[in-house]
Amino acid sequence: TEITMETKNLEIYYGKSLAMQNADLKFEKNTITALIGPSGSGKSTFLRSLNRMNDGIATVKGEILYQGVNINQPKIDVYEVRRRIGMVFQRPNPFAKSIYDNVTFALQRRGVHDKKTLDRVVETTLKQAAVWDQVKDSLNKSALSLSGGQAQRVCIARALAVQPDVLLLDEPASALDPVSTQQLEATLRELKKDYTIIIVTHNMQQAARLSDYTVFFNMGEAIEYNKTRKVFTRP
Ligand code: ADP
Ligand code: ADP
Repeated sequence: TEITMETKNLEIYYGKSLAMQNADLKFEKNTITALIGPSGSGKSTFLRSLNRMNDGIATVKGEILYQGVNINQPKIDVYEVRRRIGMVFQRPNPFAKSIYDNVTFALQRRGVHDKKTLDRVVETTLKQAAVWDQVKDSLNKSALSLSGGQAQRVCIARALAVQPDVLLLDEPASALDPVSTQQLEATLRELKKDYTIIIVTHNMQQAARLSDYTVFFNMGEAIEYNKTRKVFTRP
């Protein structure tokens, strides 16, 4: 097993208020870890710290190791961190641009403009996100015209376009209907073959169905961390 990420001695503060502690966790490649627990227990706070999305919002103390390197240090390039550790949000948030430009946005910002390269990335990532067949004939249409489920998949493709290792998802299905949710879960199971996936969900059934490991958060602490089948088969 390969540990992609690990947290040690984390303390996360909003102002002076301690929102998270006691969350020493490890995340393995080719696994899905579900972060579950009541509303306000710190799941999002934890997740958003993993790729420095909390910079400027919260104070994060402790170590966040990515490939053995502590990325919770000022000298670390946060854009590089966010390229390696991609994030997908609760509400699909496509930009008001074409589907094509949504997927290639980050690459274009990094100076990649070769059309063949971009075309290939668009096709590959939309296929990985299992939405290629639905959108391949309308790549120039605004991503805002898509259904919620399709928009969320385009957002996944957008995250995959920069070839991350880790995919963080914050309740990615909470705005989706049951069919789109099922499709999204199937997609994540496929993606697991190449990525380390960490998903916040308030849906216990989803955690049980989808994840290999489960972390249970309560009142700003990770109070249980185990294989999902052990967490969910207790009498
Ligand atoms: P969960 O994702 O489990 O619902 P959160 O991580 O959103 O929990 O919240 C954990 C705690 O941190 C809560 O007490 C919440 O009110 C607080 N919190 C979350 N975001 C902020 C913020 N931006 N500013 C101040 N407090 C926050
Ligand atoms: P700035 O340099 O102005 O701080 P960012 O580069 O952080 O802006 O991001 C601008 C917008 O692009 C944000 O909405 C962000 O979510 C999005 N974004 C940044 N990087 C990526 C990426 N790799 N993949 C997808 N969207 C991205």
